Amino acid sequence: MPLSLHIDTLLLVYLMVAVLMLGVLVGGAWQARGQHGLWFWAGAFAAVALAQSVRELAVVGHGPLPLYTLGHIGGVLSAGLVLLGVRSFLGLRLHWPAVCVAMAAMAALSLTVVSLGQPLGVSLSLSLLGAGVLRALALWPLLRALKAEPSFPLSLMASDQALSVLVHFARAWMVMPNPGATAAQTEQANALWLLAFIALLLTQGFALLLLINERLQQKILALVEIDPLTGLLNRRGLDQRLVGLHQRAATAQRPLQLAAAMLDLDHFKQINDRHGHAVGDQVLVELGRRLRQQVRPNDLAVRLGGEEFAVLWFDVGPDSAMGMAERLRQSIEQQPFATDAGPLNVDASVGVASQAAAGEPLETLLRRADAALYEAKRAGRHRVVSAT
Ligand code: GH3
Ligand code: MG
Ligand code: MG
Repeated sequence: MPLSLHIDTLLLVYLMVAVLMLGVLVGGAWQARGQHGLWFWAGAFAAVALAQSVRELAVVGHGPLPLYTLGHIGGVLSAGLVLLGVRSFLGLRLHWPAVCVAMAAMAALSLTVVSLGQPLGVSLSLSLLGAGVLRALALWPLLRALKAEPSFPLSLMASDQALSVLVHFARAWMVMPNPGATAAQTEQANALWLLAFIALLLTQGFALLLLINERLQQKILALVEIDPLTGLLNRRGLDQRLVGLHQRAATAQRPLQLAAAMLDLDHFKQINDRHGHAVGDQVLVELGRRLRQQVRPNDLAVRLGGEEFAVLWFDVGPDSAMGMAERLRQSIEQQPFATDAGPLNVDASVGVASQAAAGEPLETLLRRADAALYEAKRAGRHRVVSAT
């Protein structure tokens, strides 16, 4: 049974989907200021909407050829903006001059073909090929990102782009003038192709919304794991890292040699009592800065709470751990902390523990470092004590 799909209706549906997505994205881009990549996507949907409107006008009024051609160019423009949107979203270099030149060249080619009196199908075919190539270029970084970090939104977006490349190329082939086809057959074929494009546009929009949502969730999660005062990891962040470490240790070829230091400022309450809580906070911020400076990128510096901090070193034996902890303490003691109450002398007690055996759980390691810290306090503060 032949499907009765009216091409005008489908073009209108296409237009409505594009405008809907455009509206949602402009709202989203406005809210998520700083995510400039969203404007490329909004531009991509706007280009499709524009292209469809122009085509709609051309169909209704059986308008002049250049109007159709503008519609074809809209498709190329949209694919180029999707390419920029994908690269921006993944934090890659945009190469936007190259993308713009490519879009302009394809558009110019399409217009030239029409002005030379070639059938409309040739121009459409060229613009579809151009759009397909641009979408293939967008697919490539998506696949790489998917390989590095698989996620449902990314796989949906990549599948949509892959299908889109196929549909563009297939359509470019089919749209070439076919003198044998009747007008009704051509209209039915056009309608079916248009349905495919509508489905792809809808999927692209939903995949993008899911991607934006996933990104926001990741941002919030990162915020939850960071101590806002010092910018160091907090206890929750440490716990998360420990889960990852357990997995790494289980699969590592060579056992990790870990060392931990627990650090607590000496008589910190007096600083608060004498100079106020705000000055106490300034000391903590500066301490965070000094700890960050001292640890290597792979090591962990954590604010456990209050004025208690922990440092985790990787691939460090017991002797070097002791030396590193002493350097840490000296970096606090030897340079006064600049505060609104003037420079303040601060000191700390530190407890150090090294993994006794490769399999020693991290929790036990931290507990031993904590016991050593208690020893350091008991022995008169202002020192590093190694766990037995
Ligand atoms: P000790 O040498 O025994 O460690 O003496 P202490 O005074 O440092 O004692 P303790 O470690 O028990 O004191 C912790 C103090 O840290 C108490 C609390 O007022 C202060 N503190 C905890 N969190 C913050 C914070 O975020 N900002 C400020 N300014 N002070 C904090
Ligand atoms: Mg203290
Ligand atoms: Mg304390």
